[in-house]
Amino acid sequence: MAAAKFPGPVPRGAIDYIAHKDLRPGFHYQDVWGAEHAHGFTVAKMMKLDLLSDTQASLAAAAANGETFRSWAQKIRPTLEKRGWWGVKQMVDPLTGKTQSVQLGSARRLRTIFGSNMRAARAAGQWQRIQRNKATSPYLLYQLGPSIHHRPWHVALAGTLLPVDDPTWDAIYPPKGYGCKCWVLAVTHSGHARLQRDGYRDPLAPQQIDPKTGLPTGHLQKRMKSVNTKPPRFAYRDFVNKRTGAIQRVPAFILRRLVDGRVTRVETHIHPAWTGNVGKQRAAWLNRALGDKLDAADQQLAHAAVRTVAHSPLLDAYLAQVRAHVDILRGGTAGAKQTARAIGDLPIGFVGRSLQQAIGSETQLVRLSPETTAKQFSSHPDLSATDYFRVDDTLSRGLVIEHDPTRWVFFRHAQGRIFKAVIKVVKTRPELYLLSAQYADEREISSELRRGKEIRKEQK
Ligand SMILES: [Zn+2]
Repeated sequence: MAAAKFPGPVPRGAIDYIAHKDLRPGFHYQDVWGAEHAHGFTVAKMMKLDLLSDTQASLAAAAANGETFRSWAQKIRPTLEKRGWWGVKQMVDPLTGKTQSVQLGSARRLRTIFGSNMRAARAAGQWQRIQRNKATSPYLLYQLGPSIHHRPWHVALAGTLLPVDDPTWDAIYPPKGYGCKCWVLAVTHSGHARLQRDGYRDPLAPQQIDPKTGLPTGHLQKRMKSVNTKPPRFAYRDFVNKRTGAIQRVPAFILRRLVDGRVTRVETHIHPAWTGNVGKQRAAWLNRALGDKLDAADQQLAHAAVRTVAHSPLLDAYLAQVRAHVDILRGGTAGAKQTARAIGDLPIGFVGRSLQQAIGSETQLVRLSPETTAKQFSSHPDLSATDYFRVDDTLSRGLVIEHDPTRWVFFRHAQGRIFKAVIKVVKTRPELYLLSAQYADEREISSELRRGKEIRKEQK
């Protein structure tokens, strides 16, 4: 049943999760938060970029070499002490201008820094493996970690058994807080049936007692608990970041607890720094990193890379991810922006060199945004990943008509049909975006030609 499991070493593929994050200095944890945590490497009150960079490099090396906390701490501590980032110091909060005494490095903070980064990287790597294996292991079981103290709502989530693609994992995929060691077990079809029949081992069962000595054996009693195959109930609450003014949607859970002998409903929400699914956030970050690299790379090589992306499960996964968030993305709220940012853009096609010059763009790469994808789902619900794969061929070989300086229309005949794609030229940034994609007819070509200016004929 166990196809994917953590804790364990950070998978090789996820080491880049730590190593390639952008450096984001922040004074308060709210200065860099939410989805930004997935893209940015930050340590609260570590304001110097070189120190942040050294700390990041040491954590990435520790992940790559499978180092323990103790071994990493022994190496980094002298560096931090020498640079004055240790103990309690007076520091000016850049937001308020007020001086306050703050805790910089300490043994305890080092443990938090190491633990949070390793657990997030491991969980991001595991998510990748879960996606790869979901044909054979299509379910996940939420499991409590080996911590002594558990947050009550993590205890309430333990035993939740849901399909890998259930959107609930966007809210509850662990880790879900500082020190949280919760994890998920990938479950096969037969494992799912067995869990429903027999339940799972209760992680909070009392310890076995050795009958000879009367002392605990260190092993838990075998006590089974039934799994929960219904998604937990939660609501999104808007959490205003007092330092940046941004609004973040945070899942909040209602728990029934005994208060003064009476059952009372208590609401508890996920810490804003830990919302989102680190696995999906990493996928979004990879898309973005890929886009940036492709802009800078040799455009022929980059074009080949984009074709590979379109043929890979990445395009399919991207469409599925947008579909899961479609109501939020269409909402147009601050939550929509955050969600779009967390999902990121997908490189979808290339326009070719001659057209790049005609447009006056610095790149040939065309991106697909989550907002456009969400719109496409309502205006052209019939299009599948196979159809989106035509976008690149249409952009690089199709007939091109300049509709106006910011909008370019492409037509391409293939397999007895005509595919139409429209791109938007972002003037303020060197970026091209797909605006729409759909099937069209000859009449539309003539009418576009009448209105606009032909820039390139369709190529063989
Ligand atoms: Zn937990």
